[in-house]
Amino acid sequence: MAEPQEKKDNRIKSVKRMKEIMTNYYIEAKTAAQNNKKVAWITSGGPVEPLLVMDVIPVYPENHGAMVGASKMGVGLCEKAEEMGYCRDLCSYARSDIAAAPINGGPIGGLPKPDFLVCCNNICGTVLKWYEVQARYFNVPLFIFDTPFCHSEMTQEAKDYVGAQILEYIAFLEEQCGKKFDYDKAIEVGKLSIAGQRLWQAVLDTAMHKPAPMSAFDAFFHLALIVTLRGTQIVVDYYTELLNEMKERIANGISAIPNEQYRLLWDNLPVWYKTKWLSDTFAAHNACLVADTYTTAWCRQLDYLDENDFLKSMVEGYTAIYLNISVDQMAKAVIGMIDKYDVDGLVMHSNRSCKPYSLGQYDIQRIVQKERGIPSLIIEADMVDERNFSEAQVLTRIEAFMEIIKSKK
Ligand code: SF4
Repeated sequence: MAEPQEKKDNRIKSVKRMKEIMTNYYIEAKTAAQNNKKVAWITSGGPVEPLLVMDVIPVYPENHGAMVGASKMGVGLCEKAEEMGYCRDLCSYARSDIAAAPINGGPIGGLPKPDFLVCCNNICGTVLKWYEVQARYFNVPLFIFDTPFCHSEMTQEAKDYVGAQILEYIAFLEEQCGKKFDYDKAIEVGKLSIAGQRLWQAVLDTAMHKPAPMSAFDAFFHLALIVTLRGTQIVVDYYTELLNEMKERIANGISAIPNEQYRLLWDNLPVWYKTKWLSDTFAAHNACLVADTYTTAWCRQLDYLDENDFLKSMVEGYTAIYLNISVDQMAKAVIGMIDKYDVDGLVMHSNRSCKPYSLGQYDIQRIVQKERGIPSLIIEADMVDERNFSEAQVLTRIEAFMEIIKSKK
């Protein structure tokens, strides 16, 4: 007789390997100076591949912000930033990072000091001022990669504008590193970047299976590699292993939650300090968040990237990303995911920190309602700052939402 799902160990085994990789990555970054390597801080949507070509270790303050949130250290750091004069309405990743720098705060005792900073505004405008603050604090150069907003197709002028910055970026790196850019190595890094993104998409797509072998909450955890080590063999190897594990789970009937009856789509960043609580709360209703718009964002570039001309294809790849497109295009992407993962409802995190992600949500909700007629829920919270989360209020809303979902099925 088959063992009931409740008694099976449904934890994802690759988690252990993932933790080892991230630990090694941070050790390498923290000991970079001893090994004559340079460290660059870069925004999460920034063009990282040229840094890898130059042997620079990229470090992501936003990934650090996620760790701050998950380890529930966000309130202390955000309050410290507010004491320093930063407004509570400012992104909590920015506040945490600015407050952590002078005291080596956060779960890993601070980030390694940067040799220079790379800021790409394809995700928001906040990063411009945030990186200026840190460039002044560490007294290091800052390269700003400016991507025009994509209301629709990218114009030729916009492509030329961004294309010229790729050349300026390469010149900046040559100056910082004191060596020439290796164009042959760039081809290899580009191929690894594309291969990693394809594998990550394949991992996420295993959740099309019913029941899903992994949830969006699992994806939030496993996302860290495509963000921090994109363009390396490590990512390709790890996601190959994770994809195989997901296929095995499907073959063995192991699902993310014991009794999946309802499938939901998550929108916006995770609420890092409440992922387990949210996962358990939905699972208690036999609801699994099978996909999300956030972790998928690191695969959207695949529509544009070309391994035969990677540097040129970075122009659209790094400009037309999810947070830099119109609400209509975002709604189209959300509807595409609703269909692809066959979900029964949409859960939107209205994130006080992240205005570019949150401001269009009511329009997207309306469009989804009109086009697909599925219920949606808006949860008001913040990804790192727990002061903006009311468990009682969110629970009441989830229960009312699940009643609607159940009545429609
Ligand atoms: S405002 Fe949003 S996109 Fe910008 S850094 Fe904060 S979380 Fe990221």
